[in-house]
Amino acid sequence: MAYNSDTFQSLISHAKEYGYIFQSSEIYDGLAAVYDYGQNGAQLKKNIRDAWWKSMTQLNDNIVGIDASIFMHPTTWKASGHVDSFSDPMIDNKDSKKRYRVDHLIEAFAENLSAEEGAALIHQMEQLLAADDLKGIKQLIDDNKIKCSVSGTANWTDVRQFNLMFSTELGSVADEASTIYLRPETAQGIFVNFLNVQKTGRMKIPFGIAQTGKAFRNEIVARQFIFRMREFEQMEMQYFIRPGSQKEWYDFWKAERLRWHKDVMGFPVGRLQFHDHVKLAHYADAAVDVEFHFPFGWKELEGIHSRTDYDLSRHQEFSKKKLQYFDTEINQNYVPYVIETSVGLDRLVLATLSNAYAEEKWQKEDGSEDSRVVLKIPANLAPTKLAVLPLTKKDGLPEIARDIVNNCKGSFQCFYEEKDSIGKRYRRMDAIGTPFAVTVDHQTKEDGTVTIRYRDSMQQERIAMQEVKAKIMDAILA
Ligand code: ATP
Repeated sequence: MAYNSDTFQSLISHAKEYGYIFQSSEIYDGLAAVYDYGQNGAQLKKNIRDAWWKSMTQLNDNIVGIDASIFMHPTTWKASGHVDSFSDPMIDNKDSKKRYRVDHLIEAFAENLSAEEGAALIHQMEQLLAADDLKGIKQLIDDNKIKCSVSGTANWTDVRQFNLMFSTELGSVADEASTIYLRPETAQGIFVNFLNVQKTGRMKIPFGIAQTGKAFRNEIVARQFIFRMREFEQMEMQYFIRPGSQKEWYDFWKAERLRWHKDVMGFPVGRLQFHDHVKLAHYADAAVDVEFHFPFGWKELEGIHSRTDYDLSRHQEFSKKKLQYFDTEINQNYVPYVIETSVGLDRLVLATLSNAYAEEKWQKEDGSEDSRVVLKIPANLAPTKLAVLPLTKKDGLPEIARDIVNNCKGSFQCFYEEKDSIGKRYRRMDAIGTPFAVTVDHQTKEDGTVTIRYRDSMQQERIAMQEVKAKIMDAILA
């Protein structure tokens, strides 16, 4: 289906109506760029997190998982470079007082130019950002007469850097309080535990440490629903390697992560692409984004970074503790190099919903029109796998349906419902994204068969009641 801002608004409303995503503290009118996951959203998010965790820690015998704290020693963030340089260049419009990230402002302007002019402007911007040339960026905005969408004027302040970390105080007594930060990425919790894990797990290079958890960024321009949040969840893996082998492992993880998005997340090839970084972060010698085609365009889903030995060396320098590895194969001590894969869990949820959401219309046999809104979430990720529906509330059908639920519910998420017509119940399951529904009817009492209905094709077939569980298990493990 074609995507536009109307579809995106419908998707946002749908996500709320069917218990996926709510605005945080909605009864108090919400909090900007903070969201809560409802019953279906939380389960979808957990299924995606579990799929990632399994791919990393279960399917690779040299990758282990940890769970580090959100709070870390404040020196961590000096060593990592976040205190000095975790910032975005911003500009304010003096009339509307609206603040913009300059890259967003210029990108939005470029969208209204011809493809050639737009690309040239973006290229110029990327060169200037790469050189940290804030004056040059301001000049570019002035030269192109870029205006604020609220005031319609080009009355701009200078471009300034704005640090994205949230800070707070540790301890209850003001004197003793020291400033600490809410982690802006989970990666540093992995780096500071490098030796703990390597020694206790007797890990041999190459090996990886994976982690999922919350991260916080004071994003100035928070927009596009759960795409850019102030509190979000990351799933990161740091792969520790021998210096000199970074190119080989960088290429390996690029290919592997793209494969994962296709095979495990079920994203079509046409909605995924690589985007090489022009401006490399201070720690990287190569970096690429895996981009997804969201309803509002191509945007970053995951970053793959060749981080060199920057992080471990910096922590070594600031902590004055050796963070090295003795490689018995080459009889050498060294600070390992790192390839990082870093994906946003919330962005994966949004990509999944965007890919799954469809408004369908068709003509019935009698010539009348029918329609439905359906979430075609892959069976392995869908929050509820199976709906069990007795045709009526009488004649012992609910009891049989309950037996099916009881037989399946230890293995996967089931839903029982007896209210409303079967047609209405199917539509509700379509809207929630439940891939399978079985209906128990009078024939079930005679021959032990039920009707199974497939969400995507809406096809129905009769199968033995005993086969239901195995059939769903096969589909969700496939
Ligand atoms: P962007 O350019 O979109 O701000 P980034 O390059 O700063 O992202 P990274 O620091 O590489 O992002 O973080 C790794 C991943 O974490 C991103 O690919 C994204 O999926 C996720 N992520 C980063 N910031 C946010 C956010 N504010 N809200 C939701 N997810 C985020």
